[in-house]
Amino acid sequence: HSHNSGSPHQHILHRLHALQQQFRHISPHAMQRTAAEFNISLSQVAAVVAFYSFFSTQPRGRFDILFSNCTSCGYLSGDQDLMQMLCQLLQVTPGKTRADGLISISETSCIGMCDQGASLLINGLPVTALNAEKLTQIAQRITTESPLTDWPTEWFAVHDRIYRRDLLLMEQHAPGSALQTALAQGADQTLAVIQQSGLRGRGGAGFDTGKKWQLCRAAPGDAHYVVCNADEGEPGTFKDRLLLRDHTDAMVEGMTTCALVIGAKQGFVYLRGEYRYLLPHLHAVLDQRRNQGLLGQHILGYENFEFDIDIVVGAGAYICGEESALIESLEGKPGIPRIRPPFPVTHGYLGQPTIVNNVETFIAAAHIITHGSVWFYSIGTEQSRGTKILSISGDCEKPGIYEYPFGVCIRQVLDDCGAQNVQAVQIGGPAGKLLGAAEFNRAISFEDISTGGSFLVFDQQRNLLAIHRNFAHFFAHESCGFCTPCRVGTRLLKNNLDKIAEGRGTAHDIEELKQLSHLIQHQSHCGLGHTAAHHVLDGLQHFPHTFSAPLQPHFTAQFDLDQALESARQATHRNDAAAHLDNE
Ligand code: SF4
Repeated sequence: HSHNSGSPHQHILHRLHALQQQFRHISPHAMQRTAAEFNISLSQVAAVVAFYSFFSTQPRGRFDILFSNCTSCGYLSGDQDLMQMLCQLLQVTPGKTRADGLISISETSCIGMCDQGASLLINGLPVTALNAEKLTQIAQRITTESPLTDWPTEWFAVHDRIYRRDLLLMEQHAPGSALQTALAQGADQTLAVIQQSGLRGRGGAGFDTGKKWQLCRAAPGDAHYVVCNADEGEPGTFKDRLLLRDHTDAMVEGMTTCALVIGAKQGFVYLRGEYRYLLPHLHAVLDQRRNQGLLGQHILGYENFEFDIDIVVGAGAYICGEESALIESLEGKPGIPRIRPPFPVTHGYLGQPTIVNNVETFIAAAHIITHGSVWFYSIGTEQSRGTKILSISGDCEKPGIYEYPFGVCIRQVLDDCGAQNVQAVQIGGPAGKLLGAAEFNRAISFEDISTGGSFLVFDQQRNLLAIHRNFAHFFAHESCGFCTPCRVGTRLLKNNLDKIAEGRGTAHDIEELKQLSHLIQHQSHCGLGHTAAHHVLDGLQHFPHTFSAPLQPHFTAQFDLDQALESARQATHRNDAAAHLDNE
């Protein structure tokens, strides 16, 4: 067991979060001290600081604001204008800290508030339902340096709207209920129930959960680990925000049950930095369960059953949702995906057998143990048992959280959320699928359209090119930079779409888009790169007009070519027609 950066109680990310909060940046001196404290090199610390967008080496403002630039929380609700407005009110340039150190305002990727109207994070806390009036008041409070604790609490409220509940959201979990059943029937039978239920991972890839637990259990190692991936970063998804707050106990119980099956003593919840505001609540639930004898040593009085959980908070890197990148991050390193195989199930945290499942999967597992496999297996489709929780946002009357049996068709979902004149839906975030009306009879399932939960609606008024641009900017920003096809490819894709959108593109650029997309898709190292160009390929196939409409018939130069020849004309003392370019 390593004792430095991976040590649960003194995690390097937590040290850096604390430094960032206290000093608004991480100085060379602070890095040196951190390196000594964690017994690693200065360059390792510097690499971590550089990797995560929530850490900075230049001082941020005492009020540090991040506007979400997600298509849904940002673009669809006109966030760009709001950010400009606040910058003007406070006399600050986006991305810079004001000279007096009072305020800094930047953009960040989706913060999971897509159904709450335009939103921002201020010193890590979400402020939702932004409008001009609220921003004016915020600017006043910042100018007078009113501490956040004095601000109206309503500004920080996150109102969850759940429009459809099914298996999971209907449940009221009684602490200990699943564990009691699991302990009474034993680890073998508990694993068998998970296997019989047909449960598959809810993150989108859909690996068989029972099989994963079985492989991990069988894998030799000094220790086994359970990790909950609470790093939901797929832009447009926000259901974990609700699950982490209202179904926390079931999630922890699912993890504890998994620990029983695979023989783990230590677990982690890897919480996305954007959800840091949920930390006090999560700690309270863990403490309560320790007091109830449901975590720690001798769980429910069993001599040999010991398991506890630490929470590690991420720092604004979407790639850490990829399970091997998440494990790197847990180990206190930059979140660069590992080469797989070997998979985490045999070589995960500290090289030991590790289960990584997401929040929804652990909650489902807990309820399956309580209710039995048939309760779950009898809902859904052949390959996709149970239900899926969707985060719906964009152009619809009722943005919010919906739980459906797998197999629900897209048209049904659109009807339920009050979407009209729908042009397209993007399912599964920017890495997912863009579908037009001809495909609204397709189904949410692993057999057909798989999703981690993001469901974005675009009506006929939307310019899809702006959406593609937003997605391309997202990937160019979130590419971890490890491999060239993705690092360079996502940037070229972004430049290319910018060029077309700005009216400088020609037919040649469409060819370029296609080639680039295929290259990124096939040559990248991890899932981010493999999927980063999907939206472009879908768009070119189903909405070719999006890309062709703004094209120019000819290459148009950005400067006056004829004027550029003036010096040559002067040098040769010529100014006849042949010394000029043809003006057609
Ligand atoms: Fe990093 Fe992109 Fe390569 Fe994945 S595909 S390893 S995100 S650069």
